[in-house]
Amino acid sequence: AVPSATVCQTASNKPSCKPAVFIPVDRAPEIQEARLKLPILAEEQSIMEAINENPVVVICGETGSGKTTQVPQFLYEAGYTSSTGAIGITEPRRVAAVSMSQRVAKEMNLSRRVVSYQIRYEGNVTDETQIKFMTDGVLLKEIQKDFLLSKYKVVIIDEAHERSMYTDILIGLLSRIVPLREKKGLPLKLIIMSATLRVEDFTENKRLFSAVPPVIQVDARQFPVTIHFNKKTPLDDYSGECFRKVCKIHRMLPSGGILVFLTGQAEVHSLCRRLRKAFPFQKNNTAGDDDKEESVEEIRKFKKSRKRKKAMTLPKIDLDNYSVIPVDEGDEDRDAETDDDVAGSDLDLDLGDADSEEDEKSDSSLPLYVLPLYSLLAPEKQAKVFRPPPPGTRLCVVATNVAETSLTIPGIKYVVDCGKVKKRFYDKITGVSSFRVTWTSQASANQRAGRAGRTEPGHCYRLYSSAVFMDFEQFSAPEITKRPVEDLILQMKALNIEKVINFPFPTPPPAEALAAAEELLIALGALKEPLMTGRLKEQQTAKLSCPISPLGRVMATFPVAPRYAKMLALSRQHDCLPYTITIVSAMTVRELFEEYDRPAVSEEETAKLKGKKARLLQMQRIWAGQGLLQKLGDLMVMLGAVGACEYAGCTPKFCEENGLRYKAMLEIRRLRGQLTTAVNSVCSDAGLYIDPKMKPPTEAQATYLRQIVLAGLGDHVARRAQAEELLDDKWKNAYKTALLDEPVFIHPSSILFKQLPEFVVYQEIVETTKLYMKGVSAVEPEWIPVLLPPYCHFGKPLENPPPSYCPETGRIRCHRPSVFYRVSWQLPAVEV
Ligand code: ADP
Ligand code: MG
Repeated sequence: AVPSATVCQTASNKPSCKPAVFIPVDRAPEIQEARLKLPILAEEQSIMEAINENPVVVICGETGSGKTTQVPQFLYEAGYTSSTGAIGITEPRRVAAVSMSQRVAKEMNLSRRVVSYQIRYEGNVTDETQIKFMTDGVLLKEIQKDFLLSKYKVVIIDEAHERSMYTDILIGLLSRIVPLREKKGLPLKLIIMSATLRVEDFTENKRLFSAVPPVIQVDARQFPVTIHFNKKTPLDDYSGECFRKVCKIHRMLPSGGILVFLTGQAEVHSLCRRLRKAFPFQKNNTAGDDDKEESVEEIRKFKKSRKRKKAMTLPKIDLDNYSVIPVDEGDEDRDAETDDDVAGSDLDLDLGDADSEEDEKSDSSLPLYVLPLYSLLAPEKQAKVFRPPPPGTRLCVVATNVAETSLTIPGIKYVVDCGKVKKRFYDKITGVSSFRVTWTSQASANQRAGRAGRTEPGHCYRLYSSAVFMDFEQFSAPEITKRPVEDLILQMKALNIEKVINFPFPTPPPAEALAAAEELLIALGALKEPLMTGRLKEQQTAKLSCPISPLGRVMATFPVAPRYAKMLALSRQHDCLPYTITIVSAMTVRELFEEYDRPAVSEEETAKLKGKKARLLQMQRIWAGQGLLQKLGDLMVMLGAVGACEYAGCTPKFCEENGLRYKAMLEIRRLRGQLTTAVNSVCSDAGLYIDPKMKPPTEAQATYLRQIVLAGLGDHVARRAQAEELLDDKWKNAYKTALLDEPVFIHPSSILFKQLPEFVVYQEIVETTKLYMKGVSAVEPEWIPVLLPPYCHFGKPLENPPPSYCPETGRIRCHRPSVFYRVSWQLPAVEV
């Protein structure tokens, strides 16, 4: 039942802005007590006044000051909800959306039906929902359905300092929605919350808001934090250095929790394991449980990383591992932990080798209660960090940067900061991306240090020198300036924002990224190509304002990146949809197969691994099918593997025996379900039901599938090196791609490795010792002009365009994909 509203005095005479109600909330006494200690409670009145009087308000406050948990409660109590309007809060990370909705429901003593969350395909929103936490991608999708966001009375954009791409876009869009709602007489309040005071991109940007929004600063009671820099030049082995530092703190310093910042999930686990070994914790060993579960996986990763470490000694190889963006979800987690298998993330998993034995043994009797914390950790395990550690132990949380601002852990007195962060880097034009561990920014390092001073004076140990710190960039650049934006541009065009260049971006993406995105979308047929007349300059501007095509509209409704969306959009023909959905799901989940090329510890193990590998290869040949199915190559192997696994009931046993990664198979099953739901909701008449046990495609279907994949991955076509290139030995068995100047090869794990078809499409290029294509299918050259006309040129070859240099990846790349196709492939003309 809705609590009865009490009318309270209003001083203002603007009744439309100021709800004159007070909705009582029945909080538990201990919650009420903890709440009153939060600095933001002191500001409740000024915050609510500002919100009542202004359409847009910015709230800045230290992490932990209570923004995320309390502001929605203030609004609820002040009556900013009704049967027709709710409070929406966006988070850049899924973990925050889920855990904050839980926390707020608990604090307010309200059911999860009222305080709910929605992340991509998952949520507990009901008709009764009044406070809704969601990822920023989810709100963007809602704007597409209802531009005025009429469901909401208030929208809170949280963690705006992170400058995630969707956050930026939402703020740009909301800057237009707010005045429109005002005009309609249904005002919408916009609240932007940030953990730092650096908000001038939002407040001083004249293109965004006509009136400068008020900024309310919440003074957090921050106790002094003493910063200790390392004297030495920074070590590569920062994980080992973290271990030694934690040991020292634990042995020598008074009680207080320790929070360690590392860069990825694998590192977090290995450090947890090492610390638990050094300071064993026996009693009702809850911490130890995690270990058992993860140990197999961890050993696998460790061994893999060892292998990589060896590869690192080769000259010229750096931390890059190139790969093309997988399906970009609306609410992708931004701390990059999902891709732990990417080289560079766990180069320093030195489980003991590097350290002396003494370090591993402890002389302290006090046990250390070690907990991991990262985005993908199960919510129950995440919740452990909020509870007090067992009596007589010291809490030590080993975290990725999710602990930097998204979640606040109580009782931390010591912070150990490795100074690094794992980031995704993109080549703006080719979209080739890589994960790299780099130095973080000064702002982030200061955020991390701040975690130590929440409850009492604290200490922050930086594992790098102050000189290195001075060299850090001051702030990390907004995400939108750092990545390809084709998915974003497609979404914006679907909102009928044609002149993307005029959009009020808080920080606009570079013009070349916008141009590359438009070019790709035009090539995919998602945008209507401009008439190419007039002078070059005019052509360029025309290109930047192409309207969306009907195909583009269909593509925009699929929750996957434009390339994959195009494949799905084409797949209703010839009953290909179930296969395309499976292929797209399998391409999204990396590493379907077990990795057996690892150094073994004994001869016995070597033999075992060899046997397993042989078995996997044999199975892959079976999955690759017969006749024309074989031409689908690695994608057919994926289809066959998924089909076979589902046929066998997707059991761990089947996976183990046949070299499949069980976790990957479960993930594919989940994604297939999700995509099926999405397709059914887009094409309501599709009535698609996917039998997990799908039949293999017919030869004809396999041929259609190759064309569908080609149509989606048009810029990922490669051709066998030609006679003139073969004069140079480095082009032996190599392929020439549209995007890179260097030779690329079919990956040895590919089923087409020996066949070397003349034309192929690939899913991604990864770099190890060479540039390798993965996920390869053969295509017929005569399809290219039919399916990809923008990439073809039938006239005389053009002069070679000058190659350009990409500062992000250090790679020389060809000038423009389409130009390059025109240059290098004189394709046979076909009758269309
Ligand atoms: P901010 O958004 O300003 O960073 P929050 O609202 O997230 O701050 O957190 C306010 C306080 O609530 C913090 O002190 C934090 O420790 C506490 N808190 C948040 N989530 C939980 C939880 N799940 N369990 C216990 N305490 C929590
Ligand atoms: Mg917060």
